Amino acid sequence: MSDHKIDRIRVHRVLIPGNAVHSHGIGDVAGIHAVILEVITDTGLTGWGEASPWPAFTGTAEGTVAALYTYLRPHLIGQDPVQVERHMRDAEALVVGHPEAKAALEMALLDLTGQISGLSVCELVGGRMRDDMGLSFSVANPDFGKDLEDVAAMWAEGVRIFKIKTGFKSHGFDLMRLEKLRAIYGAEADLRIDYNQGLPAYNAVRCIRDLEAFRPTFVEQPVKMHERDALAHIAHVIETPIMADESVFGVREALHGVQIRMADIFSLKVMKSGGIRRALEVSAIARAAGIEVYGGCMFETGLAHAAGAHLMAALPELRLDCEFYMSTYYASEDILTEPFPVRGGRVHVPEGPGLGVAVDPAMLAKYAQAEALG
Ligand SMILES: [Mg+2]
Repeated sequence: MSDHKIDRIRVHRVLIPGNAVHSHGIGDVAGIHAVILEVITDTGLTGWGEASPWPAFTGTAEGTVAALYTYLRPHLIGQDPVQVERHMRDAEALVVGHPEAKAALEMALLDLTGQISGLSVCELVGGRMRDDMGLSFSVANPDFGKDLEDVAAMWAEGVRIFKIKTGFKSHGFDLMRLEKLRAIYGAEADLRIDYNQGLPAYNAVRCIRDLEAFRPTFVEQPVKMHERDALAHIAHVIETPIMADESVFGVREALHGVQIRMADIFSLKVMKSGGIRRALEVSAIARAAGIEVYGGCMFETGLAHAAGAHLMAALPELRLDCEFYMSTYYASEDILTEPFPVRGGRVHVPEGPGLGVAVDPAMLAKYAQAEALG
């Protein structure tokens, strides 16, 4: 029990323009649609949370606002914020689905618990196993010439991991981009591939075999999220490690994924699992089966990136690094008071109590899509 009670909950909806369109096998994205949750205690503390829904992937901003404000807020007012599991269990009982809303709620509660205890979020969920990790940037611009300029600039800053988004144009376009990047950067580049469900299952193995010539570190989600048996078949016959992203949200998909040996790697995302602690549960299932994990994210501001960085910091092992690049290399501007810490091609886990970052209210006002609720 703490001496703090949740006194007020505010829900902000923002749209941060991106500096380019990013294309994927499931569609284009031109900006960051985020729902920012502000949980204020009767002692004057503020915990921040973010939901970053993508309608084609996890859900909608409108649905997230309703889940947080209409359905979860009445239950939380007057409650002790440090009883995180109780509130998350209740949230799961009150609202089905909406993992991004639950991620935002847990983020804000852990931020408050950290401020109250003086511990950072990674320490609340296990400890700081690492202070930094490699950053992956996604090559997803339909204008590849622009991507080549961006990759050159990031290479100069120390970024060595690049994830090429494939399956949104043509197989030839995908092969051309991989060939070009491998020719320019050689073996020092860590190239990964993400189809975002863009391959038809009947022809997926042949397409992936073509790309293997360029030695990708992994191939992510080649087929539709529900084609789990096809994904398992691909993982079985393809030598390059196969990663499941859209096919693994929470513990239930992870358990089924282990049972059918669906992939060699699971992408962990707080927005899919419904929070940091649920993502750690997914990682435990994966680890028990010898399946690797990776630090994935949605189109997020630096606030959700901070939560992701704390999750990655607390993992017992992390070999494939993370992709928290949006606030540094995609958003036109971020909502944090200080830039999300990316230096020398590495993400640094924020220091200090709670999430270790704070939201600038002026930025919320600047990019507001609607009047804040609460
Ligand atoms: Mg993905």
